[in-house]
Amino acid sequence: MKEIAEELTGFFTQNNIPVFGIAKAASLENEPSGYRPSDMFDSTKSILCLGIPVPKGIFKCQEKSGWMYWRAASIYYRNIDAVLMQACSIIEEKGEVAVPVYGCFPYDIKGKGDFWGYLSLVRLGEAAGIGKVGKNGLLFHSQYGPRLLLGGIVTTASLPEMAWPEKDEEGCPVDCFVCQEQCPVKAIDKKGKVNRVACIKYSMRSPIFSNLMKAGNFRSEDVQMINHVTAVDDHSMYQCIQCVSVCPYL
Ligand code: SF4
Ligand code: SF4
Repeated sequence: MKEIAEELTGFFTQNNIPVFGIAKAASLENEPSGYRPSDMFDSTKSILCLGIPVPKGIFKCQEKSGWMYWRAASIYYRNIDAVLMQACSIIEEKGEVAVPVYGCFPYDIKGKGDFWGYLSLVRLGEAAGIGKVGKNGLLFHSQYGPRLLLGGIVTTASLPEMAWPEKDEEGCPVDCFVCQEQCPVKAIDKKGKVNRVACIKYSMRSPIFSNLMKAGNFRSEDVQMINHVTAVDDHSMYQCIQCVSVCPYL
């Protein structure tokens, strides 16, 4: 399986993916049932996570930063998803099976607006050694801070554990709380636990989703489907990226 890892390294390098890592699937077995690597295949062996940094200027720009982030995220999610699917094919050519964990959509919507990815990419990134869960709930990387957009793979291939570039990731500095202090709706507590519903309610705007939320009477499965087919990428807007923009370690 060393050859697959080498081939993937070459493929990611060619596709301008600066950060990626591989870990044993068992390292995420404590995730909630239905959201563990072993829920995807009976014989899951490895997980992989990759990250692309959003340019720093998008967060630092004093005007219309939110709109620029919206465009960057829309493009990067598509790029990440395409790269993940090609990487899955590389793995499957060796007789294994592999499934992408997409950069953003699709996801499950629970209750009144709690969004759950099919696997937590932040935890995947931490397990793969490419960062630590930061105090704003995002992956914190020693070079890029919290501005990596992530994607992942779950596979039956038993791949060697590795992180590229090899770094000792230590996470957020212990004495920094800037993102928590500056969240406009105080959605991040001092331990770094993010109130996702409060955050999403404030930070995400999609016309159809907002109207459904206002109407109040809906099933989360319906919202999930409508959100996926009408509100992805170019139709949703991020109203807030404050917990990344204010980070002194971008
Ligand atoms: S995106 Fe905005 S609302 Fe959500 S946690 Fe970050 S600062 Fe708070
Ligand atoms: S502002 Fe940046 S470094 Fe500071 S706690 Fe938040 S994510 Fe971590």
